[in-house]
Amino acid sequence: MKEFSGIAASRGVASGEVFLVVPRDLTIERRAISAEEVEAESARLERALAVTREEFAALRDRIKQHGTSVRAEILDAYMLVLEDEMLTETAVHKIGEEQVSAEFAFKTTLDEMLGVFAAMEDPYFRERAVDLRDVGNRVVMNLLGVAARTYEELGAEAVIVAHDLPPSDAAALPRDKVRALVTEVGSRTSHTAIMAQSMEVPAVVGVAGVTGYVRSGDPIIVDAVNGRVIVAPTEEVTAEYAAIARDLAEEEKILARLAELPATTVDGYRVELSANIEVLPELEAIRRHGCDGVGLYRTEFLFLHRRDLPSEEEQLEAYRQVAEASLPHSCIIRTIDLGGDKFLSLPEMPRELNPFLGLRAIRFCLARPDIFRTQLRALLRATAYGRVKIMFPMISDVEELLAAKEILRSVQAELHAEGHNFDSSPEVGIMVEVPSAALHADRLAQECDFFSLGTNDLIQYTLAADRGNEKIAYLYEPFHPAVLKLIRTTVEAAHRNQLWVGVCGEMVADPKATVLLLGLSCDEFSASPASVPDIKKTIRAARYVEARRLAERVLQMTSVTEIHRTLTEALAAIGVSSFESRP
Ligand code: PEP
Ligand code: MG
Repeated sequence: MKEFSGIAASRGVASGEVFLVVPRDLTIERRAISAEEVEAESARLERALAVTREEFAALRDRIKQHGTSVRAEILDAYMLVLEDEMLTETAVHKIGEEQVSAEFAFKTTLDEMLGVFAAMEDPYFRERAVDLRDVGNRVVMNLLGVAARTYEELGAEAVIVAHDLPPSDAAALPRDKVRALVTEVGSRTSHTAIMAQSMEVPAVVGVAGVTGYVRSGDPIIVDAVNGRVIVAPTEEVTAEYAAIARDLAEEEKILARLAELPATTVDGYRVELSANIEVLPELEAIRRHGCDGVGLYRTEFLFLHRRDLPSEEEQLEAYRQVAEASLPHSCIIRTIDLGGDKFLSLPEMPRELNPFLGLRAIRFCLARPDIFRTQLRALLRATAYGRVKIMFPMISDVEELLAAKEILRSVQAELHAEGHNFDSSPEVGIMVEVPSAALHADRLAQECDFFSLGTNDLIQYTLAADRGNEKIAYLYEPFHPAVLKLIRTTVEAAHRNQLWVGVCGEMVADPKATVLLLGLSCDEFSASPASVPDIKKTIRAARYVEARRLAERVLQMTSVTEIHRTLTEALAAIGVSSFESRP
């Protein structure tokens, strides 16, 4: 048995078998061989190529049977790469010429070809580079004798263990098969954690060294309450965790009874409690967990893990579903927040040195009005099917908001001229997630209908602490007095201007934050559907007048420790335990 510790990022406990995801970019050390070994080494490469071909053919046939034609097409493209003599012959030649191992010869040939493809103007060739890298890595894995399996081969009790699982990869996971996620990097508000919450599976992130230890098939327990990962647990530990899992299931059953009840405090103050969603299968969870509609639909997930852009019709279909599933409540659909840690697999999205401070979200949309307009057309057309509100992410300046609204107006005129049926004055709001927006909230409030505080980003930008970096997770402090001040400034500016203001960052799911944000008079809380019952429980146990007094006191404090202690005590007084003191 071996235990690792990390950050509990999506609450729960699960056990299963490790499915080790191998990194995309492998580093292979140069290994010299003797002249006598050249023949055997070349034969090894030929064998690895043949095995890879067979694997892809088998996988392609299986996928075709199950009807996912897009993935089958990708595998056809992979097979073509393997037929490419330029790649295989150059590598075989290199083994003899330079007297190096098959993996080193193949990997260096692959990297040289990738370099040539990447420099090409033609997007077709740059796209082929993605195929080449994926196929090449699989050949190298076969040479190394490491199983490089794909998600199609997942068993029913898979615990995904990876160094990193970018949102685009996480979005491709088969939701019905994954029991839990474990990554070496990441933090509570990284988008991997958010995906895990959306899948309602436990996740522990920031688990240093785990991929170097485990092998696919190892039994593993993921304790995403205490941030522990246990590989090859003893029988005793397995039994202990089975009991904890039963307790958590009981707790959930009790919470489930709250689904039908409103999020009203003991003294009758009602808040809206809505859902953050990333993908359409989550819509089913909205009702199950008793959410008042959708407070944040992260539409960029429609754009990830694919090689083309979703058409207007495809987007309309998705937004229509969200609008209809939210009724009688509203849904807030956020325009794409690409950049940061979520990228298109298209060549026109260049890598940046500092992506969280770069061409992200509304900045990307204003730079690519073609992509933006298509989304706005679909969004406006979806207003015919429900109560759709439109939200722009990462607004940092009023000019940006005005520019986005100008494009929206022009799209409205275009749709009108084409005779489409849509709401001609939908509510338009912004995410307040950049400190400049919070400080300038009074002016921004004059130009929109609502605010939603994106605390995940507001915290990282205020404290200069990357939200996805486990190494500085200790600096990422939701209860930092500076963060709390910005939240209060935003709420006050909103209310002064008769706007409603919600909060959609992950912190709302922490009972300490729930009671504090209630006391700060936030009108709406939006969180992953599975967190909603917990938030509702806290709200229903609290008194608004007392929460207001508590917030007043907390906002005077300058010590984070004192803030935590005060909030924990306030919760204890109303019979709610904070996350730290739960089983
Ligand atoms: C946020 O920043 O708080 C937010 C809700 O948006 P995202 O997590 O998608 O950046
Ligand atoms: Mg954000």
